[in-house]
Amino acid sequence: MQPVMQVPLLDLAAQYAPIRDAVVEAVTRVVDTQKFILGPEVERFEAQAAAYLGARHAIGVSSGTDALLVAMMALDLGPGDEVIVPTYSFFATAGCVSRTGATPVLVDIDPVTYNLDVDAVRRAITPRTRAIVPVHLYGQAAEMTPLLALAREQGLSVIEDAAQAIGATYEGRALGTLGDFGCFSFYPSKNLGAAGDAGLVTVNDDDLAARVRLLRVHGAQRTYHHEKVGGNFRMAALQAAVLGVKLPHLEAWTEARRRNADRYRALFASLAPGAPVSLPVEQPGRRHIYNQFVIRAERRDALRDHLRANGVGCEIYYPVPFHLQPCFAYLGVPAGALPVSEQAAAETLALPIYSELTEAQQAYVVETIATFYARA
Ligand SMILES: *Cc1c(COP(=O)(O)O)cnc(C)c1O
Repeated sequence: MQPVMQVPLLDLAAQYAPIRDAVVEAVTRVVDTQKFILGPEVERFEAQAAAYLGARHAIGVSSGTDALLVAMMALDLGPGDEVIVPTYSFFATAGCVSRTGATPVLVDIDPVTYNLDVDAVRRAITPRTRAIVPVHLYGQAAEMTPLLALAREQGLSVIEDAAQAIGATYEGRALGTLGDFGCFSFYPSKNLGAAGDAGLVTVNDDDLAARVRLLRVHGAQRTYHHEKVGGNFRMAALQAAVLGVKLPHLEAWTEARRRNADRYRALFASLAPGAPVSLPVEQPGRRHIYNQFVIRAERRDALRDHLRANGVGCEIYYPVPFHLQPCFAYLGVPAGALPVSEQAAAETLALPIYSELTEAQQAYVVETIATFYARA
């Protein structure tokens, strides 16, 4: 039987339709100049992003992953250093630590926010610890006040993985501007998505900003004269031009996502009151931007199959914590050691939350979940 309705997890075409002319014009402008790497388009977007976030420096880079890597390289992380990261995140958070030669120290998360457990961070600190990487998972801030205090007390750097959190705030301040570095991704499925890969590093310290800029271009201030071993972390002008068109819409898109989250709460209460699921919880003093709307559900895998069979897009972020990934077996963290993350990996499911989602679509999603549990 054909599903009654199709509700994709994300509908980028719906977002694109009303801004198509402006995007095409921006792309044409870049193509006409034939200046494709860095240059005035990237500088203009950097200034726009710095103003939006309230950051002193915003540096356009090639991806969110490269934003994390270049920040870690700017701190000269390497063999013998330890960097504390949550075991539950997108791969890049820990992958980049490993690529510098430093050791990722994997710790558990808070069961409500899915972000770093501050007590677990404190226990993980050793004389080799150099940095902490709080991830603002799904678009809600990690517990920054105690984390920043702990980092200051221990002399550690803080690299915020804000890849999912552009426009989210903590006590009124933009995420990505609280630590030493903020790392953003413009992967198309993020709230601010490019037309390909792109990312951003925010920094308040002038020296660290200069280091990131240098490392972005193979460590060469003057072409072919290399002061440091950097990489190609350059942002493409086409991406900057497209992002420059989209950034002024971000607040409205974010408000729509937040409204959709409220609507889900009301719909779950009225249409699926007995369903064994729990909804995301907004912590006081934090603006959640809902890059993902993640529920916990009993019999999660069967629910996912049921939703997909009925035309509802959904996804598991993330099914395997880092300590259970084959590539991190060398860290020697056994199954069962980080139970909050393991439980989250077994129970979470992301539902459609994109800005253009309609109330009828949301009601259908919730009804489909109610039907699944009513049948059981
Ligand atoms: C998307 C994401 C990244 C990586 O960004 P890319 O632009 O895909 O390289 C890093 N960390 C988190 C938490 C992410 O969600």
